[in-house]
Amino acid sequence: MPEVKKIASYLEELAPLSIAMPGDPVGLQLGSPDAEVSNILVALDPDFPALEEAAAKGADMLVTHHPLFYHQLSSINESRPEGALIAGAIRDRLNIYSAHTNLDIVPRGITCQLAETLGLQVENAEILEVTGSEHLLKLVVFVPVGHENNIRDALAAAGAGQIGNYSHCTFQVRGTGTFMPGEGTDPYIGSSGKLEKADELRIETILPATRRAGVVKALVEAHPYEEVAYDLYPLDLEGKAIGMGLIIEPEKALPMAQLIQLCKGRLNTELVRSWSNGKDSFRRIALCGGSGGSMIESAARKKADIFISGDFRYHDLKRAEAMGLALVDAGHDATEKPGIEFLGRYLEEKLRADGYETGVFQQTSAGAKWD
Ligand SMILES: [Zn+2]
Repeated sequence: MPEVKKIASYLEELAPLSIAMPGDPVGLQLGSPDAEVSNILVALDPDFPALEEAAAKGADMLVTHHPLFYHQLSSINESRPEGALIAGAIRDRLNIYSAHTNLDIVPRGITCQLAETLGLQVENAEILEVTGSEHLLKLVVFVPVGHENNIRDALAAAGAGQIGNYSHCTFQVRGTGTFMPGEGTDPYIGSSGKLEKADELRIETILPATRRAGVVKALVEAHPYEEVAYDLYPLDLEGKAIGMGLIIEPEKALPMAQLIQLCKGRLNTELVRSWSNGKDSFRRIALCGGSGGSMIESAARKKADIFISGDFRYHDLKRAEAMGLALVDAGHDATEKPGIEFLGRYLEEKLRADGYETGVFQQTSAGAKWD
């Protein structure tokens, strides 16, 4: 059975804690990194329906987008809702983990999933609000001559060696590796107790830190040696920009009626409000899963025609009007749901790839929703 820290490592490989917005309480909210996990429930919120469903499904870990401890608490008083929720989770020995703004910011995160669910291509999308850049690592590996192409392909397939639109970017030099196999080893070449000199290539490449675990796994699997010699160095370089929200330009402009239908049909909600700003169709579409009110100015500054998000207030509408930006409000929860479903699929994939049978459930119980 995997432990909580193993599940956390999968989640942080996808959405590193270091990219979250300052002060956002992401990561393990409640529980023990060493606790064993037999079932996981994935939900938008750590609320009473999620706790009840976790108990009903035998889940010992709840993975949410919104954090449990978003506001600072001065007590856990069970006569108050937050206190009762936390005390109940502790009694149930439920481990709660949240991937919040780090899941918003990471390239495959909440808004990317929203866009893909709406059928919008994210490939050449711009970031709506840049918050930083991907951390990059340099990988150096020593490979016996003749295996370099296999290894290069494996590294590229796992996400290393990508610079702009160029893949398989590496540099290699030839040299001599030495080693002496010890007792009980099963060397690919040479024999135990004898110094070996091997004709090897030193291959260098670059990778985003978020791909580290997958790249190292692919390298070790593709390399013929029993013990693979490799180094990873942090780089003081700016990687690809990351941030909140996306701007996408589809090939054809989309009319408002079609955008509303897409939101209703694909996000499974009837609660879609819109303001068209007198325009018939929209080409440059800003998107942000969740609550996008604070990004209206960024969307207008980046010349978006329309902004699809949730939780817009009256004054957001007035600011959008002043800046000539049309709005679609498809709901905070509905615009984040595709990201939550993706999180469940991602965890299931990682667990199965490592041979775990841990159950991963998507929340089916409905929390409070506007009628
Ligand atoms: Zn949210």
